[in-house]
Amino acid sequence: FSIPYPTNEPVLSYAPGSPEKAAIKAAIAELRSQEVDVPMYIGNELVRTDVKKKLSPPHDHQHVLGHFNYGDRSHAEKAVQAALDAKANWENLAWEHRAAIFLKAADLIAGPYRAKINAATMLGQSKNAYQAEIDAACEFIDFLRFNVHYMGEIYNQQPIVPGSPNTWNRTEQRPLEGFIFAITPFNFTAIAGNLPAAPAMMGNTVVWKPSETQIYAANVIMEVFREAGLPDGVINLIYVDGPEAGDVVFNHADFAGLHFTGSTGVFQHLWKTIGENIAKYKAYPRIVGETGGKDFVVAHKSANAQEVATGLVRGAFEFQGQKCSAASRAYIPANIWEDVKKYMQADLAEIKMGGTEDFTNFINAVIDEKAFDKIAGYIDQAKQDAGVELIAGGNHDKSTGYFIEPTVLRADDPKYRTMCEEIFGPVLTIHVYDPEKFEETLKLVDETSPYALTGAIFSKDRYAAELATKRLHQAAGNFYINDKPTGAVVGQQPFGGGRASGTNDKAGAMVNLLRWVSPRTVKENL
Ligand code: GLU
Repeated sequence: FSIPYPTNEPVLSYAPGSPEKAAIKAAIAELRSQEVDVPMYIGNELVRTDVKKKLSPPHDHQHVLGHFNYGDRSHAEKAVQAALDAKANWENLAWEHRAAIFLKAADLIAGPYRAKINAATMLGQSKNAYQAEIDAACEFIDFLRFNVHYMGEIYNQQPIVPGSPNTWNRTEQRPLEGFIFAITPFNFTAIAGNLPAAPAMMGNTVVWKPSETQIYAANVIMEVFREAGLPDGVINLIYVDGPEAGDVVFNHADFAGLHFTGSTGVFQHLWKTIGENIAKYKAYPRIVGETGGKDFVVAHKSANAQEVATGLVRGAFEFQGQKCSAASRAYIPANIWEDVKKYMQADLAEIKMGGTEDFTNFINAVIDEKAFDKIAGYIDQAKQDAGVELIAGGNHDKSTGYFIEPTVLRADDPKYRTMCEEIFGPVLTIHVYDPEKFEETLKLVDETSPYALTGAIFSKDRYAAELATKRLHQAAGNFYINDKPTGAVVGQQPFGGGRASGTNDKAGAMVNLLRWVSPRTVKENL
């Protein structure tokens, strides 16, 4: 039994007058008119506590969408126990049955839940309709369908092989022993859903702790999983302080793996904690993480200035630059710089900023006040620093929502702080280089890449494109030729990076699912 290779879920256009636009507008109006009381999901219980935390749209922070119920250490303990209790039944279920549950979840998102999960992502995370559609609908559906396909491939590769006379051998895939901890980010609803789903597919049970700024849509993900028939306790969703939850999870003998997307600093801290506790665990835990990025765009002197400018505007500013893959530093040769600048300034002058409810706004708000203050701090400092020129944007205002104008800086020094440090916001810094120093520039890019998530080369000269691809082969896990460095599509560009950007166990690929199983080889004498 094999599951056919899926096709990517088509992205709906949300054109004026389209049924999807009407559906999403209605879903937004409905969600805005309610106040949800979001529970934790532990075993068969929907858990509510006395500690209620407010949920608000980042672009309209005085509006109350509802509350979530904040837990403590005891909830983390219960969630671990619920995951362990659910394990035996879940791992003994035929993989085809597990597959059917996640395929149904994909169909529910593609159909009846599409407007709701997109609207929740638009309101809770301030993604505009198009970006919500690409993320919460299409990428999430693709993660589920492609992973189910790869899952089938993995289970079908367990042949019984005749060996020497009278001997048979087989290798079978077992889930890990214990429970998996999934820690998920705010920036992609698809990633939030995929991190618990991928290990669960492979017969594991999971404790899932989302970012507090993504809980509004995480709740919809859980509704979908439950409606798809996911048994209680397979995925337990908790809202507990990170260190408190970590203290429970990483001290537990049955901790079997971490599936993480978030900051490099947190990931390194968790890895260290796991290392310190290593003797406590029954087995060496699997550690899978996608972390920070400082993603680059290099243009060659042969590049088309308009294409470079469009790639930069989209790569740097879609979803306010809050993608691990976002273009945040660029190296532009002097011969095309004036044109690139002119096209970018023209594009950015037309871009509208505001709430997600108005579909004509391309730029929305950054996720919360902490992010706003950090990003605004970089911009304000840059405005004062010598050797840095403000090319576009530079203003910010948090009175009603956390709005930051798409900001382009030009830095004389290629090691200026905004060329090197991850900002995770709508700030792009450009270094203009001598067009005859292409090879030196490639070397510089590589040397200033402690991260290695995504990168791009724009070039009409095939030799230069190949040279960049070769020289930068360790500087990015996803490399783009004549395209922006964002927007990886499941099944087409498996996503993940190396160096300080993560363990490169590509999301939505077989290599990732293989991290959640442990093979057993059986030899039988006849
Ligand atoms: N997969 C996304 C992209 O290619 C980025 C994911 C992330 O930001 O973590 O743009």
